[in-house]
Amino acid sequence: MAGDILKVIMMGPPGSGKGTQAELIKNHLGLPHISTGEIFRENIRKNTQLGQRAGKYIEKGQLVPDELTCEMLFDRIEDEDCKEGYILDGFPRTIEQAERLDKYLTERGHKIDKVLNMSIPDQEVIRRLSGRRVCSNCEEIYHIDDNPPAKEGLCNVCGSSVIQRKDDLPEIIKARLDTYYEISQPLISYYNRSGLVTIVDGTIGKTNVTRFILSLFG
Ligand code: AMP
Repeated sequence: MAGDILKVIMMGPPGSGKGTQAELIKNHLGLPHISTGEIFRENIRKNTQLGQRAGKYIEKGQLVPDELTCEMLFDRIEDEDCKEGYILDGFPRTIEQAERLDKYLTERGHKIDKVLNMSIPDQEVIRRLSGRRVCSNCEEIYHIDDNPPAKEGLCNVCGSSVIQRKDDLPEIIKARLDTYYEISQPLISYYNRSGLVTIVDGTIGKTNVTRFILSLFG
């Protein structure tokens, strides 16, 4: 029984900075950043069976079914690098996933320690996502106005092409936001019942957000 490993959940609408902040805090906390969206995209790039199954939903801005998502996530958190804990980004996204995660953790004598709810207005979500570009290889994130790559269209880190995610196109952004409010936002109340949620103002600038989050961990 080890109840002392640190498990953090990053929540919030798409584009609220969950992934960016998870990347920034992971080294400070010494924990891996686990993004279910990124694992799906990697599988789509490699054209695996999982990628083919998940891709149909992702390209429409819909959620991948709980069964498939949970199986993949539980498999990932069994890995050696998760022994001291992990930062979950984009999981859970449904009450069903949260309940399954609780059950999985309880069976192992573990529990969630912190839920960070990144809060930003819809208009800012739309501005960020429609201008977002990502490296097609390493998923480094750019923005056409806020943070363009040094050489147009090429990743600063690995030199691969920088592209727009298909699900960052306007109609799909709208679908993802609708899904968030309808299905994922109720999770805040779910975790609030156990007093786990801290609201993080996602509009105060990347560095200030990181500083605030790290202050919560002492
Ligand atoms: P993200 O990179 O977190 O924005 O995720 C991209 C897409 O992957 C989402 O719009 C969903 O289609 C799918 N996805 C990621 N995480 C989950 C999850 N926990 N449950 C269901 N679908 C997910």
